[in-house]
Amino acid sequence: MVPKGTVVKDVETGKVIADLSEDGQIELILKGGKGGKGNVHFATSTRQAPHFAIDGEKGKEKEIILELKLLADVGLIGFPNVGKSTLISKMSSARPKIADYHFTTIAPNLGVVKTQQGDSFVMADIPGIIEGASQGVGLGIQFLRHIERTRLLLHVIDVAGTEGRNPLDDFNKVNEELKKYSEKLGNRKQIIVANKLDALQDEENMMALEKLAKENDMEIFKISAVTGEGVNELINYVGKVVKVLPKEEIFDIEDRVIYTLEEDKDEFTIFEKKTGEFYVEGNAIERIMRRVNIGDNESFAYLQKMLKKLGIEEELKSKGIKEGDTVHLLDWDFEWYE
Ligand code: GDP
Ligand code: MG
Repeated sequence: MVPKGTVVKDVETGKVIADLSEDGQIELILKGGKGGKGNVHFATSTRQAPHFAIDGEKGKEKEIILELKLLADVGLIGFPNVGKSTLISKMSSARPKIADYHFTTIAPNLGVVKTQQGDSFVMADIPGIIEGASQGVGLGIQFLRHIERTRLLLHVIDVAGTEGRNPLDDFNKVNEELKKYSEKLGNRKQIIVANKLDALQDEENMMALEKLAKENDMEIFKISAVTGEGVNELINYVGKVVKVLPKEEIFDIEDRVIYTLEEDKDEFTIFEKKTGEFYVEGNAIERIMRRVNIGDNESFAYLQKMLKKLGIEEELKSKGIKEGDTVHLLDWDFEWYE
């Protein structure tokens, strides 16, 4: 069982091979080796009460990455300290840490936002994206995956420029990072949230931001996360939009693969290291030995049967094995008797 929101990736290709975002969803990633056979399989007339079972073969291995991505409808993006955490705590009952130093949010926060119409949506507050985040600089990158599934991004901007940066630069830099990280995420629907309206001193900033919103065909909301001004309008708008936006798929269904484990050919080689000492090697013998329980008589009989069937016995004889010689089968030594 993995948590809802887990994405399965192939280590070699980095491709997403399954997206477990539904309750109780089951996906087949890898078809295993031959399964073990229960007792019933051997219940022939001559062996009415078999009491040995063959262990299943060890399957081949496949390395996968399990990545947990939050299942949020709406993601908050923006530079550190623009007020994302303050906003999510205003909009929902989430209570993230808020402070005016960068990266106060060190883990993503989820909040359920209820609209006045009785709808609700889930919002994610991720730590600030900064320049270079898509290259792993700073904390941002590891959190970007958490907003990959969101239908809508709220781009929070400190319109008052309280930290001395230009709000338009912030907007562009964050979007560059998003695009570098993922084309899909870069094209996700965005609305601009011009925050810290209460501290705004230079009207020019707001006008420039409004112009930019218009040019990019984006909705803009002027708010103060601290005083709550404009927040209800934002909630109602987002609630409406989220309802009609489609669920974001994070992988293309054509990429779906089920890995099949190839069967090894039954190969073996026999060599006599010194007189009377025979070694049998190869995947045929490894396969059999994995499935045999040496301590069990019937299992042991099965081993003998397989040695005959695969031609190992024949080959040993043709190599001149004699009564009393030793046969080494992996870690086991057997004495040969006619
Ligand atoms: P985050 O890093 O984007 O999550 O930003 P925070 O929510 O932690 O806020 C950073 C700082 O900005 C804190 O000191 C907040 O009190 C302050 N802040 C957030 N929103 C507003 C706002 O609307 N007006 C003013 N004046 N300050 C705000
Ligand atoms: Mg924060």
